[in-house]
Amino acid sequence: MSNYPEGVTGNEPQIAGYAHDTEIEDDREVCCNNDECKAFEQYSEQTVYVSQYGSRYEMNEEWEWTCPYCESHNSFSRSWDPADDVEYEPDFD
Ligand SMILES: [Zn+2]
Repeated sequence: MSNYPEGVTGNEPQIAGYAHDTEIEDDREVCCNNDECKAFEQYSEQTVYVSQYGSRYEMNEEWEWTCPYCESHNSFSRSWDPADDVEYEPDFD
């Protein structure tokens, strides 16, 4: 029994409030992991490929991007409890 209109499962981020297996490209403040690169530990805004997955109990996010200076592949991951991070609002635009 569902109260949602046809075609709406209730799992949509707008309804459920959390992203599931979402893949986006977004501008994030990142720095390069290559200690020979001029961007090493120098944060700048780069277009990052972000994949998000998780549940209402734990969210995970992986960032991947290629450094524009040395072209090395960088990655970063984090996880958090959505209940502890109620101000986090992914931007799906
Ligand atoms: Zn670099």
